[in-house]
Parts: sequence; C-alpha cells; structure tokens
Amino acid sequence: MRKLRIGIIDLVAKGPTRALFARVMNANLASIMPQVIATWCEEEGHDVTFVCYTGFENLVEELPDNVDLVFIGAFTEAAQLAYALSNLFRSRGAVTVIGGPHARCYPQDAAKYFDYVLGFTDKAVVSSILQDCSQHRPVGVRIAANQQPAMLPGVRERWKFMEPTLKKAPFIKMVPMIASLGCPYTCSFCIDSTVPYQPLDFGVIKEDLRFLSKKFKRPLIGWHDPNFGVRFNEIMDAIEDAVPPDSFDFIAESSLSLLSEAHLQRLKRNGFKALLPGIESWYDLGGKSKTGKTTGLEKVRQVAGHVNMILRYMPYIQTNFVLGLDADEGAEPFELTKQFVDLAPGAFPGYSLLSAFGQAAPLNLEYQRANRVLPFPFHFLNNNQAMNVKPKNYSWPGFYEHVIDLVKYTYSWRAIFNRYRATDAMIPRWMNVVRAVSSEGFGRIKHHSDVRNRLNNDGQFRGYFEQESSELPRFYTDLARKDLGPLWDWLPKGAMQHDPNAYLKSVVV
Ligand code: SF4
Repeated sequence: MRKLRIGIIDLVAKGPTRALFARVMNANLASIMPQVIATWCEEEGHDVTFVCYTGFENLVEELPDNVDLVFIGAFTEAAQLAYALSNLFRSRGAVTVIGGPHARCYPQDAAKYFDYVLGFTDKAVVSSILQDCSQHRPVGVRIAANQQPAMLPGVRERWKFMEPTLKKAPFIKMVPMIASLGCPYTCSFCIDSTVPYQPLDFGVIKEDLRFLSKKFKRPLIGWHDPNFGVRFNEIMDAIEDAVPPDSFDFIAESSLSLLSEAHLQRLKRNGFKALLPGIESWYDLGGKSKTGKTTGLEKVRQVAGHVNMILRYMPYIQTNFVLGLDADEGAEPFELTKQFVDLAPGAFPGYSLLSAFGQAAPLNLEYQRANRVLPFPFHFLNNNQAMNVKPKNYSWPGFYEHVIDLVKYTYSWRAIFNRYRATDAMIPRWMNVVRAVSSEGFGRIKHHSDVRNRLNNDGQFRGYFEQESSELPRFYTDLARKDLGPLWDWLPKGAMQHDPNAYLKSVVV
C-alpha cells in the first residue's frame, strides 16, 4: 500500500470565532474518535497531520498542501462547515471522509459531499478506506462496522494528537477519556439508546490514569461515556487501584438513577467535581431519574431533593431538560421546572429544545411519519438555535412564549444570586454566573425572543415553521453566512437544504 498523507480534522466549532468562552473552553471539547483514527492511520504506516478545529485555526494552512485523504469528525451543527471543507479539499485533489454523530444521523445527505461516510468505526473500517482511498462521486460510499469497537487506543497512544490540542486551552485543560460505550437505558430521543452498553478495558484505563498522573500535577478528566458509572464498582475499583484518592478531578455525565448517596460518597473520595445528569421531563423518562411512575409536582420534589443531596458531595451539577416533548402540554411542565429552579437553587439547568437528529433514534421515524420534522439547516441543530420538531401540544408562538418565560426565570438576577449562594466552591460559583450572563443564559433569551417576535410578525418566517413554505427565512441564511465566514464561499450548491424525511424513506420499501 502506498504511504498516504492524511489530514484528520476534529470539528469542535462550527465556524471561525473570537468569543472568549470559546477561547477558554473549545479545546476542552475535543472528541476521542478523531484521535483514535489518527492513531490507527499511523499504525498502518501513513503520515498524519491532526487538527482539532476550535474556531481559531486556519485549516487550509495547518494541513499540508498535497494531502491525499482528509477525515473530518463532526456533530450535526458543524455539518455545513464540514461540507465546505470537503469541497475545498476535494478541489485540491484529496479524497474526503466524514465520521462522527452527523455521519451516523444523516448518512444519505453526507454522502452527497464526501467520498466515504462512516457509521460505527473500527480499525478494519479505517483499514479498508486506507486501502481503497479513491473518489466516490457524485454519491459517496457508506461504510460501517456491525458494532462499536471492543477496544480503543488509550490516552498514552493518543497523546501525540491530544497534547497539541490541550496546549491550545489557556487555563482549564481537560483530558477526554472513555470507560464505556452505549447505554442500557432506552430514552427515546437519544442516539445511545440503541447502542448496546459495553465497558471498555479497565486495564487500559488504569494505565492511562497512571500515565496522566506523570503529565499533570492534578489532572482533570472529562469522561465521555454516554452514561458514566453503569458498572459503578468496577470503574471506581479501577480508579482507586490506579491513583491515590482525590489526586485527580473528574467530570461525568451520569443518570440520577446511578447517583445514590453511597455512590456519591465514593465519587467524592475519588475527586469527582461535576456531574451532569439528565432529568429531561416531569412526565416522561422516569427510569433514568429513578422516579419510576412518579410525575408532575411529586417528581419535581423528589428530583430536587436528590439534586440537593448531590450538591452536598459535588461542587457542581448541571441538570439537563428537554423542552417540547410530546408528553408535555400547557404551562404546567414549564411552571414545574420553575419550581425546580427554586427548590434546587444550586443546580445549573441546561435546556434543550426537542430536536430529531436524522436517524439517531427510532422515535424520529414517528416524527417523520407524522410529517413533523422541519428542514432547518444542520448548522442550527444544536438543541437551541432551532427546534426541528413541530411541537405536538403547542402552537409555535405559544411554545416560544413558555420557553422565554422559563429561561428568563432561570437566568433572572434573583435566580443567579440564589445559585451563587447555594454553591460553596469559588470556581463553580462564578462559572454559574458567567454561564448565566453569557450566550447560554442572556444570549438565549435574546435569540428565543427574536424568533418569537418574527413568528408573530413575519408571515414568511411563520410559514416556514408551519411547513407552508420551504423557503428558509433570510434570518437563518444570514446567520449561517456570518458564522461560516470565508468558508461560506466553499459551501456546495444545495448544501443548506436536506431531506428531513430521509430516514423514513430509507426504511420504507
Ligand atoms: S440515560 Fe442518557 S445516555 Fe442513556 S439512553 Fe438515556 S439519555 Fe441516552
């Protein structure tokens, strides 16, 4: 096999940025799989240039001129950027590959712009591409393993690609690690709900922790497990076996059902500092929050009590909610969340507008069958800038009215002050304040208000939401053009549109 010049791009940002928060945090959001693919490509004897794009790099300058093959890893919100980059590198003679969540959710669309589109990716899949490495146009080839890989290269093997990214992070340097893939829970909207749970090699994890203890005085690890701690005792045994208690800081996403008081005591002993459990809804998904059939106000009280107990052990907790689920109706779900904000004032609530990411989850078929999925460009599908599922029990303006009311309540000065007082540690205290007054809090109030006003006053805008017109409102085109900057000119013709029902069409014969 000839030796290839390979470029690997991990898209953390969806376009060039100068934002302070992005400067501080983006390099900490690097994905693991692009680093894994870089490691596998080098093991096969190829020359690899790796770039984690945080919004500040010039990708064209950072990759060699004559690159043969470019792998791009992207979430859906970075799809338009990925398509523009693929077009640019193809124009210079490269073959292009897309992997990551966007490729898994929208393979039909991605195949229009890439030579290869990856599903589950293991070493054999990567090897087959390296051997073939040829143009597949106008429609790319879709390649996937039957399941997630059983083994992934650990931190030590990925370090060469990870270290330059960590150097870009000015203060907080968070090392991405993973101890398991998939999830045993079946939350209907989640991409991991159909991926069987599988722990990774605890021996590799222990070795990685020991390796990191020599690289940093007090390493900070962000666990990328979809649901950390399903095999709680095994992962805790591994950590305790590898490094002294409380010598690392850890952050993890974990469901409330796994966060019993005994587990929290052990997490605290081992240096866990921040947890991000999903609550999602007061009327649905009770399994993962250990509330079973309890709903409504009773569930609010139960969950708030649980979250307050977590705060006795953890300096930081973010509680995630999905707004607009079909189980929700009227003002009550929003009012209940406001009560939760009061009852658990130390938690930072993260809100996501219900979004159906292509074929991420079987539930999306139902939305597509009911013709409820809107063709918002991928660039806006980040759970906040646009909601691409027509709400079942709300009009669009009515829904946005409730969202604005809730977000204003959550990020009011009163709630910000309460959150500050209910948090003990200095960094989490100020982190909550900064998040509330930045694009996540105040910024969203402004964006949602803008959308609500246009829904009420602009017939063409409202017509798009009501599926009476397929012409994207200029508001969104202008935003995307601004975000992509000079790369807008490389966006292929038609790449702002996609078929919102492609998943349904792919399963109906
Ligand atoms: S518990 Fe979390 S990771 Fe697991 S299926 Fe539900 S949302 Fe997905």
